[in-house]
Amino acid sequence: QIAYLNGEFIPIEKAQISPQDRGFLFGDGVYEVIPVYGKKLFTFQDHLERLKNSLKATSILNPLEDDAWERLLQKLVDMHPWKNQYIYLQVTRGVQMQRDHLPADCLSPTLYAYTNELKPVSEAIINQGIKAVTLDDIRWLRCDIKAITLLPNIMMKMAAKNQGADDAILIDRDGLVAEGTSNNVFIVKNDALFTPKNGSRILPGITRSVIQSLAEQHSLPLSETDITLSDLENADEIWLTSSTKDALPVTELNGHLIGQGKPGPVWQKIQQYFEETKQQFIQQ
Ligand code: PMP
Repeated sequence: QIAYLNGEFIPIEKAQISPQDRGFLFGDGVYEVIPVYGKKLFTFQDHLERLKNSLKATSILNPLEDDAWERLLQKLVDMHPWKNQYIYLQVTRGVQMQRDHLPADCLSPTLYAYTNELKPVSEAIINQGIKAVTLDDIRWLRCDIKAITLLPNIMMKMAAKNQGADDAILIDRDGLVAEGTSNNVFIVKNDALFTPKNGSRILPGITRSVIQSLAEQHSLPLSETDITLSDLENADEIWLTSSTKDALPVTELNGHLIGQGKPGPVWQKIQQYFEETKQQFIQQ
């Protein structure tokens, strides 16, 4: 496996960064995860735009021009045998010898990227769905930035596991559904789709927007709206969406079955539309 680090392609186990990197010391960095199908970068422009927004919001220098980003990531993909991959990339503010919350001027950002095989979601999940619990969202108020600082997400994911669930759906300070620990939330009620509005409380998921356009193309009613805990509990279907897993059906919430306790019919449809979109994309 080859990784890219600050201008060089090297075997991943040889990649090294300074412990004085602000990413290591402070979690001072941002990241992206980009899915690759048939060796082609899927929804690349959307991921690039989101990356640029994260960099701008944190005043971290963007180390590359748009076309250089694309060339670099495509080259990384082409160095590996897998048709379907997911690229992880992160940009930190850079190495600073003097530890100081305030960043020094003229730091050069650290750019790290690697790719791995993207495996399909397991049959068990496709057939049975996953279990989720609701938890208070303990994160900050800029969840629209894709920051590498994921301690709260990790703690909430561990808390979900401790309760025997696969993931947590986060309830914000106003009692509204925000998102999962690493995914966006959709609910289905009477064949209509609902998802929380974008804003500073959630990450603007790329899979979320793919599903929005699939819904539009296939005339499935969808609205962005506030979702309460009781809307969630009474939903016919709940999905968690992300780049590496598409839409995962949640069939148990806080120990109670959702719908019939099986992946629902609207999920089956969206999953099929998603697969068709990927196949078309590969063949383009
Ligand atoms: N919300 C959070 C908190 C996430 O970490 C992710 C995955 N990176 C998502 C939503 C889903 O985003 P995407 O569909 O772009 O993968």
